[in-house]
Amino acid sequence: MKLTVTLPTHSYDLTIETGALDKIGTWVRSLWQPQRVAIITDETVNKLYGAAVEKELQAAGFETSLIAVAAGEQSKSLETAQLLYDFLAEQQLTRSDGLIALGGGVVGDLAGFVASTYMRGIHFLQVPTTLLAQVDSSIGGKTAVNTKKAKNLVGTFAQPDGVLIDPNTLKTLEPRRVREGIAEIVKSAAIADVELWHRLSSLENEQDLVAHAEEIITACCKIKRDVVEEDELDLGLRLILNFGHTIGHALENTAGYGVIAHGEGVSLGMIQITQVAEQRGLSPLGITQELVTMLEKFHLPVTTDCWPEERLYQAITHDKKTRGGQIKIIVLEKIGQAKIVSLPTEEIRAFLNREGGI
Ligand code: NAD
Repeated sequence: MKLTVTLPTHSYDLTIETGALDKIGTWVRSLWQPQRVAIITDETVNKLYGAAVEKELQAAGFETSLIAVAAGEQSKSLETAQLLYDFLAEQQLTRSDGLIALGGGVVGDLAGFVASTYMRGIHFLQVPTTLLAQVDSSIGGKTAVNTKKAKNLVGTFAQPDGVLIDPNTLKTLEPRRVREGIAEIVKSAAIADVELWHRLSSLENEQDLVAHAEEIITACCKIKRDVVEEDELDLGLRLILNFGHTIGHALENTAGYGVIAHGEGVSLGMIQITQVAEQRGLSPLGITQELVTMLEKFHLPVTTDCWPEERLYQAITHDKKTRGGQIKIIVLEKIGQAKIVSLPTEEIRAFLNREGGI
């Protein structure tokens, strides 16, 4: 399946196909002339797919080089970016060459950032290998690295020349990582696609979803594509993709590294925001329970003992998305439709209250 992302200055295709990685050389050849190609990946993905991808590219006539950073969020840093600039310079990569990001969201954000800043920008492709990256982070052109003070503080908007999604890569992904991607899928359906919601309702569990990954990923890519086409630079509508994320990020950060993973934070954040929205008449009665049923089926957390309310409040109000004493939150009007609500910052306290909730 091919979906086109149509933007004013640059359009490109998302290719979603089981087994596509085995033919990556042909795909890249359809986009680029034979040239130098640098592959940026991480150590885990490199062990699984690096050699095969390089071989395929070479067979298609490309001169390749590959660098693998350490797996994990700590690689999304200016220090690693610096190492990558040095590597690209040593490989004598020029603006007529290209870069491929092969990995999860960390590699995608980091390599996209490096590609968009090295020599003022070189061509790049996204080859996402986690479910989260396949349904979310590889689409839309946001790149970033973290600094010691904040996540994603430094970054660019830079669109790739193409995105290649092979659901086969999910077979090697840890179950916890698969579930994190599912949290984003549930989010996408909840905010924008009631048909996808019904489809998810018909699935039994995570394994069933992975067995139908091509179809589900395609539906999510359409949602993200539509939002990005309308708001490429994140000036309005794109914010709805943040449903569950404001509280989710705060939980992730205050719980300490790895205790609550990103997707788990999003799951908990969606539940918390929705139950308060339901209590206040902003969302319809019973909608929280619908979310709970869906998330529990995929073994995502819907409640937690880790709830440091004051620290969560501090984390949220220091977040870059609060502006002029106002904070924007996303609530569900119904399954498949979300709206952005602007609140005085202080009001977010009410949305952290767990009384009367699950
Ligand atoms: P990740 O890239 O760290 O990948 C998770 C783990 O899975 C890593 O250890 C990785 O080595 C491993 N892995 C990757 N593919 C694998 C495979 N096929 N088989 C086995 N293991 C594999 O994490 P992620 O969840 O993919 O991405 C999280 C990042 O994405 C965060 O930094 C977040 O900020 C970013 N993000 C960006 C956007 C955006 O729009 N740019 C959107 C959402 C999230």
